Amino acid sequence: MRLSRYFLPVLKETPSEASIASHRYMLRAGMIKQQSAGLYSWLPLGFKVMKRIEQITREEQNRAGAVEMLMPTIQGADLWRESGRYDDYGQEMLRIKDRSDRDLLYGPTNEEVITDIFRSFVRSYKDLPINLYHIQWKFRDEVRPRFGIMRCREFLMKDAYSFDISMEEAVRSYNKMFVAYLNTFARMGLKAVPMRADTGPIGGDLSHEFLILADTGESEVFCHKDLVDMVVPGTDIDFDSDLQPIVDQRTALYAATDEMHDQAAFEAQVPADKRLSARGIEVGHIFCFGDKYSKPLGAKVMGSDGKEHVAQMGSYGVGVSRLVGGIIEASHDENGIIWPKSVTPFGAGIINLKVGDAEADAACEDLYSKLSTAGIDPLYDDKNDRGGVKFSRMDLIGLPYQLVVGPRGLKDGVVEVKDRKTGEKQNLSPGAAINMIIFAYKDVNP
Ligand code: ATP
Ligand code: MG
Repeated sequence: MRLSRYFLPVLKETPSEASIASHRYMLRAGMIKQQSAGLYSWLPLGFKVMKRIEQITREEQNRAGAVEMLMPTIQGADLWRESGRYDDYGQEMLRIKDRSDRDLLYGPTNEEVITDIFRSFVRSYKDLPINLYHIQWKFRDEVRPRFGIMRCREFLMKDAYSFDISMEEAVRSYNKMFVAYLNTFARMGLKAVPMRADTGPIGGDLSHEFLILADTGESEVFCHKDLVDMVVPGTDIDFDSDLQPIVDQRTALYAATDEMHDQAAFEAQVPADKRLSARGIEVGHIFCFGDKYSKPLGAKVMGSDGKEHVAQMGSYGVGVSRLVGGIIEASHDENGIIWPKSVTPFGAGIINLKVGDAEADAACEDLYSKLSTAGIDPLYDDKNDRGGVKFSRMDLIGLPYQLVVGPRGLKDGVVEVKDRKTGEKQNLSPGAAINMIIFAYKDVNP
């Protein structure tokens, strides 16, 4: 992409409404624009990052055996009356009436709709297990929308729903998602810690939240330090194998958010030098709630014993849009964002310090075309701005590598390659610079 043809409305001033880094940088880097309280437009740069996060989430769901589909954002109220949640859900639910005065709502979650789909089509235990997911917008009329897209009203969520014949099988499905989540967040460059969680309005008793540690997180977290750096299972794990030991290895160590925290248990179970009290951002939440929805909605299948069994369910959410902010909270400095390679909107930035100079233009065009061909998806700053403006803009948007091309370097046959994360600069021939970047990306998307 050539910057001159892109839409990147960078702000010079720090917006006063933004109190945390991710919100500040997302506004300054032209990633989002607020349209109304808790409602945001995703501008091209922000949208591109969100799409990459969505794709990693999708790949890891598919790998764990979940099947993608799409349910509507608007739901009828009747199913929610059947489950008993229409009244329980309260003011967070946006209730709408259509022209015939029928009650509709903008879905805050999809347990009812998916259970209705299940009961319409599935009759036998032979069709189980089933895990269906979609990546769809949700609306929750939050009491206090804040921190930009981190806690907003309309947000993108991946939500998966599993159906099994027994609780034992349901736990197996739960474990698959548990492991898939570890891999998903690790691929985004995050250290996400699973913590015992309260189940809230979704219900059930087996539940974990996945939190990334950040000082600006809304939750207070208490955990064993070893959980933070524990090696993830990896994407080559066999999801049909027994995953319980992987789950147990983590759940054996103390980890709880403020809602579930028990200070005495924390002190009894974790040696003082291993106790971590910090703040965290919830990026995923998984639940195993058995028959909470299948029972009232009558989602039953015939078992191998010839009897009818109510399906045992779980639901599994990932905050796809929240992750854009979460990743920035976990990875930035005073100059801007530092994207992990797996989610960066562009693989590298090319800065032309002398637009209009035949030699500089030609060198940049050549880098641009070769990096594009190699699948690096570069952003070429071909705008007629001062060097200082270009450098700070490129730092702000946080691409992992910057290639700086100017007449001075070209005289010696080199371009400057800057690593955004370390700040390290190297002078390399254009060919060597291209190879270095291609090499750096070779393992990014397993
Ligand atoms: P929270 O405790 O943060 O309100 P929740 O428990 O209500 O979240 P879930 O119903 O488990 O959330 O939703 C799954 C995921 O969706 C959450 O882990 C979070 O990442 C994301 N999410 C929930 N509410 C919001 C919101 N208002 N804005 C952005 N993302 C959200
Ligand atoms: Mg939660």
